[in-house]
Amino acid sequence: LETASVAVADLFETVLVLLHQDAGQHAVEIHANIDTNVGAVRVQRIEIEQVILNLARNAVEAMAEIEGPHRLWLEASRADNPASIQIRVKDTGPGIPEQIHERLFEPFVTTKRKGLGLGLSISAGIVESHGSRLSLCQQPSGGACFAFNLPVAPEVP
Ligand code: ADP
Ligand code: MG
Repeated sequence: LETASVAVADLFETVLVLLHQDAGQHAVEIHANIDTNVGAVRVQRIEIEQVILNLARNAVEAMAEIEGPHRLWLEASRADNPASIQIRVKDTGPGIPEQIHERLFEPFVTTKRKGLGLGLSISAGIVESHGSRLSLCQQPSGGACFAFNLPVAPEVP
């Protein structure tokens, strides 16, 4: 699959448009925070948009399970490695259920009545094909936080 240079802001914008078509997102305040030193990444655009959308949809579904008010954050900043941008998707939901913590990225792992349990495993595969790993991040305030890195797009002179 082909990669292209795309602004992180454009990735988030696509996801926000699709997310706003979903039922349930109305109860959630959504924030997109992109650090000023974050520009374009080199990615398989459709695949990475799918990853962020999967994570955001999981967040909205999880937050519906507990009392609000609820917030969803899409964040981007420079990673420790200067050739990478870190993307984070965070929510104010109940957090990852303890019983599936160790198998979270395996296929067919779900706690939902009609869940397929494929979103995270597919997303992890896409992130891996971009040379990174989908992982959980710490959120002192509770809720779930997922993070992964994307390669910075080379500067066009
Ligand atoms: P599905 O959404 O079909 O259940 P996923 O692979 O997308 O499959 O997610 C697997 C499981 O991980 C979910 O069923 C849920 O238990 C847990 N999970 C994923 N994202 C979150 C989140 N943001 N907050 C709490 N639990 C989550
Ligand atoms: Mg899912």
